[in-house]
Amino acid sequence: MKIFPALEIPETLAAGPGPGKTDPRVLERFCKTGVADHMQKDVLRGMVEAKLMLRELWGTKNLYTFGVGGTGWSGLDSIQSLVLPGDKVVVFVNGTFSSIDSLCLRMKASSLEDLAADSLNPQPANVIVINVPHGQSVTGDIIERALAEHKPMWAFMTHWETGSGRVNDIEGFNVACQKHAVMGLIDAVSSLGVGDFDIDDYPGVVAWASCPQKGVLSLPLTYAPVSFSDKAIAVLKQRGCYTFVHHPILEARHWGIINDEDVAAGTYHRTHSGYAVAAFHEALRILLGYGRAQKAKDYLYHEAALKQVVAAMGCDVTSDMPSLIVLNLPGKLAGREKDLVAGCRAENFCIWPTLSEPVQIRIGILNQLSVEAITEIVGRFADAMLKMGAEFDKHAVMNGLAEYYKAG
Ligand SMILES: *Cc1c(COP(=O)(O)O)cnc(C)c1O
Repeated sequence: MKIFPALEIPETLAAGPGPGKTDPRVLERFCKTGVADHMQKDVLRGMVEAKLMLRELWGTKNLYTFGVGGTGWSGLDSIQSLVLPGDKVVVFVNGTFSSIDSLCLRMKASSLEDLAADSLNPQPANVIVINVPHGQSVTGDIIERALAEHKPMWAFMTHWETGSGRVNDIEGFNVACQKHAVMGLIDAVSSLGVGDFDIDDYPGVVAWASCPQKGVLSLPLTYAPVSFSDKAIAVLKQRGCYTFVHHPILEARHWGIINDEDVAAGTYHRTHSGYAVAAFHEALRILLGYGRAQKAKDYLYHEAALKQVVAAMGCDVTSDMPSLIVLNLPGKLAGREKDLVAGCRAENFCIWPTLSEPVQIRIGILNQLSVEAITEIVGRFADAMLKMGAEFDKHAVMNGLAEYYKAG
């Protein structure tokens, strides 16, 4: 028998698309929470309070707003469970994550024959995949044309595609869904807690899903926020779905949403961790305390700084997402993106490559909203480029950054 030494994991500079740098206050709540079961009164109270704060963060009056234990895909599985075999779905794909969303939906909408034909990558004819090239956004025109032509029951889009760093047209999606009487579903994994939007402004969208560790900044594996409109719940009640654990109506019960009403304390659905509840609750308190609008403004301000300074180093930025830049290396470094990322990661400067073709570099600023944090990210990235033979004057680049901040 081999017993390994205690696992030590170092502190890294988290400068990728996510997980973001968890606030020490969130970790403190995690560690300072006592051992308590999932029906203890303060755990249940924490879940009810978190639910109320989540409605604030999402900007919604949707009763069915709560957290699904797990990661982004757990929340997405819950909203995608509305889709049943044979349903007609249009899904827009413009990068790694929307591509996986398309796979999840093809699995849900498959018949037994579709699944048996290719169980890991089924291709049901009733799911229409609209491919938009990597590096481009899904536009209102593309959405309108697809929904007008196919008239599906459901349409699915990623709000912000984290694979290519592109913001997709949520207004256009909402308008087209309403016009063609289509029920919209949105992957808001990377936009919640970063962008300033109220989901109630988009009545064409009936369900939304996010994740714990990006804009919400509660990595100690907690909850994927989801929100369902009354219409989604009515359709679900009528048709049902093939999951117990991620069933939106059943999962909502533990959060104190029972028989379409808020109640003072939830009932058992599955075990919840008091540590996770306390950490998630604190992350929401921090976000709402900072202010959603202020945070969105700060992301835009610091993203613009980062974008400007990597352009000054000769990089070509192809993204338009506020918490992340996606870029190609210049000239003779082009094609060596993976090597550069590997070198940085070996030194605990954790930036990312793209996870699907083409290979690009992704640098994220989740919870790195200060002059000092951005300056450190820029300095380390500049060093990595210079080490690989890039030709620019680091001093001039850093001065350019300082001037951006001096100008306010
Ligand atoms: C990160 C991400 C996911 C997956 O989330 P996990 O937490 O890894 O399960 C899905 N969609 C988008 C847009 C993402 O950015």
